[in-house]
Amino acid sequence: MLSVNPSFNLLQSNYLFADIARKVAAFREAHPDRRVISLGIGDVSRPLSPAVITALHKAVDEMGTAAGFHGYGPEQGYAFLREAIAAQDYATRGVHLDADEIFISDGAKCDVGNFQELLARECVVAVMDPVYPVYVDSNVMAGRAGEMTDRGWSGLVYLPCTRDNDFVPDFPAVRPDIIYLCYPNNPTGTVLGREALAEWVAYARREGCLILYDSAYEAFIREENVPHSIYEIDGAREVAVEFRSYSKTAGFTGLRCAYTVVPRDVRIPDGRGGSLSLNALWNRRQCTKYNGCPYIVQRAAEATHSEQGRREARETIDAYLANGARIAEAVRGMGLEVYGGMNAPYLWVRVPGGMTSWGFFDHLLQKAALVCTPGAGFGLNGEGYVRLTAFGSPDDTTEAIERLRSF
Ligand code: PLP
Repeated sequence: MLSVNPSFNLLQSNYLFADIARKVAAFREAHPDRRVISLGIGDVSRPLSPAVITALHKAVDEMGTAAGFHGYGPEQGYAFLREAIAAQDYATRGVHLDADEIFISDGAKCDVGNFQELLARECVVAVMDPVYPVYVDSNVMAGRAGEMTDRGWSGLVYLPCTRDNDFVPDFPAVRPDIIYLCYPNNPTGTVLGREALAEWVAYARREGCLILYDSAYEAFIREENVPHSIYEIDGAREVAVEFRSYSKTAGFTGLRCAYTVVPRDVRIPDGRGGSLSLNALWNRRQCTKYNGCPYIVQRAAEATHSEQGRREARETIDAYLANGARIAEAVRGMGLEVYGGMNAPYLWVRVPGGMTSWGFFDHLLQKAALVCTPGAGFGLNGEGYVRLTAFGSPDDTTEAIERLRSF
């Protein structure tokens, strides 16, 4: 009988960004003379770099010639890009990866959402709280999250990340099978030091867990002793899959390119007494359901690994980080606690005592015509915080800071 997948009935409507848009629209209507500035933007604002644009033009021209035309490419991505990633993103940090352990795609969102398909429905999933919602909703769709209660999803294990634990999650009381870790973190902008990450890798090895490590913001890391990749930790090759993206690091949010690393050493029980290579399974899944990221986009991504491309990407990220530093200073000047922002484009601001995150949102909008993202939208432990982003233009950031100062 035709019927919807019952797990989809369980999905909660995500009102967060719709509610924000509705409140901002009402404010604009009531105050047409006031210019609203968003400190909640989750998209980049700076254009693609010259190295990327040159590579795009070149690849487009190639596609118009019989010799240079590219049709279907390898589902796993072209060797030129996989090799550039292995050399530039990993070998430079002492991590050896073979190119066939790297799978190119059109986004970390789809990869991180799709990856759980390889794992049994019965697997117990742990997520950080607050959390990037894709980890939760993709597991709700898969029927792994149980039911929504006033303490969150009954079937998920939550790893609270709060100021009390410096946003470094403790090991859970209940042993999970799959652990989603996201560092630098969205939404808190905080990072995990080498020792803490090593402890999580040791935990996963001891307990037989799989870590799904989202390092989409890796290129924002500026501090020493903060690993850029989980594979900088010995033993991680056997227990971790890593997701990365060109979106925020090179402005590819509209162009779309990302990659997932599945080391050949990650093996998981096949439920029949044997074990399977996750690399082979992901390859099988991608070959069945995905036909590859466009050639011209992969050439553009390759250009970000050239000397010029790396320099330009770094300049862009430095500009966002400079915005973040200025915003953090202004927020501290208001007497508020602020976390993150130093190795990430996100700032996590504790709202003044007694206020809710939505209460602070309303206050900031009404008094300063500034938009933030209420932390409550990212999970129970997001209440009491708002997320600010550093992706605005320098001019908007300057004006936003002036408004914060007189707030
Ligand atoms: N992972 C995290 C933590 C993100 O914040 C985002 C985008 O906001 C993504 C993944 C998605 O990246 P992509 O644009 O490659 O799909």
